[in-house]
Amino acid sequence: MAENAARNYGSYIGGEWVYTEDTMQVVNPATAQPFAEVSKIDAAMLKRAMDNAAAAFHEWRAKSAKERGAFLHRVADELVRRKAEIARAITLENGKPLAQSEGEVNMSEDHLRWFAEEARRVYGRVIPPQVNGKRNLVVKTPIGVVGAIAPWNFPLVLSVRKAAPALAAGCPVVLKPASQTPISCVLLAECMQAAGVPAGVFQLVIGDAAMISNEFVGNPICRKISFTGSTRVGQSLIRAAADKIKPLCLELGGLAPVLVFDDCDLDVAVRETIIAKFRNTGQSCIAANRIYVQKGIYKEFVERFCAAVAKLKTGDGLQPGMDVGPVVNQTALDGALAQIHDAVSKGARVLAGGERVKDSAGFFLQPTVLENVCDSAACMCEETFAPIAPLGSFETEEEGIRRANASEYGLSAYAMTRDMARIFRLSEQMEAGTIGINDGAPTTSTAPFGGVKESGWGRELGYEGLDAFLETKHVSLGAI
Ligand code: NAP
Repeated sequence: MAENAARNYGSYIGGEWVYTEDTMQVVNPATAQPFAEVSKIDAAMLKRAMDNAAAAFHEWRAKSAKERGAFLHRVADELVRRKAEIARAITLENGKPLAQSEGEVNMSEDHLRWFAEEARRVYGRVIPPQVNGKRNLVVKTPIGVVGAIAPWNFPLVLSVRKAAPALAAGCPVVLKPASQTPISCVLLAECMQAAGVPAGVFQLVIGDAAMISNEFVGNPICRKISFTGSTRVGQSLIRAAADKIKPLCLELGGLAPVLVFDDCDLDVAVRETIIAKFRNTGQSCIAANRIYVQKGIYKEFVERFCAAVAKLKTGDGLQPGMDVGPVVNQTALDGALAQIHDAVSKGARVLAGGERVKDSAGFFLQPTVLENVCDSAACMCEETFAPIAPLGSFETEEEGIRRANASEYGLSAYAMTRDMARIFRLSEQMEAGTIGINDGAPTTSTAPFGGVKESGWGRELGYEGLDAFLETKHVSLGAI
């Protein structure tokens, strides 16, 4: 084993670090080699974590919002203090270039600070009475213990996106990270500990996904499950949660379209489409999956886009100046190559890349551009988690919108245009939870994030991200 091999990473339960004999290895996708080991907890430890969370709820919710906010600021301070170490851990377990890992830590800090402040703005309201002598109040209270399940593609920030608002709202959190990328969450738990988290208020449980999610679903202590991951697992959670009517927030898959209109600023359009496609090595739920260019600028856009792709540096994310890292594992690489072959067999032309990077044991795919890709090709209708940019063309705005919306997914959508009237039409007609206009990185702490159609239920971030962990109660006061 390479670096960090000496360390066995554990779970954080009831204010203590828990290690077991049952371990799993964490693999660096840039080398295909394991670099660390983590302990897996058993069912009894998990039950203890749930009991700890239930016991911690009363005291945590009773703290003032200002106190909870001050705690979240201290966690943010710790993240900043340990930024280099945490960013390195993200790159080692996920593969993304170091600068992007640092960006992930920065965004995590921003989420923590946003919810630290937003906690103080959990307002109820007083409703004008319909009957003389009555008063009608709306009161917001924390929902209770939250079970959070995170994916591997943004292992830190997507965990923080759940933990920060839940803690701000007064809810204890039991977090399960992805098995591929548990280490950044261990470091997050260390930051929580250093910031003085009370025992049971934040717990990290590393272990078997089915065991943990079954406990979240079946244990009445858990009052809400917040899940980010694939639509397939989201569907299985919905089925499992039905019996208990367990509330779910589901952030699921995407198949984002990009519409590049004739009137766009081409420099901006190329720059933002490159970001939307290749950030995180194409392994983002809001990655540009289908790029449609209006006929009038098709040739020029493609030339400039391919020139920009040729400049992208692919390699181990720990090396300076990398733009694209490895995909997460061999299965992901095989799936990406299969998508390329499928598109070519249906008439697509490879304009750039198209193959595995030679002379590397890691899971590297060359940044790939395909043109003349038909809408039935797998890369146009299945989520592509790889640096593959499939290009198609369209004639009219109406056709562009129709093809953009022709998907069961609706997480994000992009358009490149300077026409204000069109921007309003697109905002109203594109079926997506987030719409980036001339903007390839539209996510921000301050605005709601989530999907429509099969991309999920509920919203994270913004005010909505906090409201997701609050119950809304009506109190009717008769004469006092
Ligand atoms: P995944 O396979 O669904 O896994 C996500 C998490 O769910 C992991 O922690 C995983 O644990 C756990 N899990 C696996 N099987 C489970 C089960 N039967 N019940 C409950 N939890 C289970 O997804 P992924 O491959 O990690 O992530 C990629 C997917 O996430 C993509 O579809 C992407 O679009 C989506 N995503 C969505 C958003 C969004 O905000 N909408 C953001 C990022 C990613 P193990 O790792 O232990 O298997």
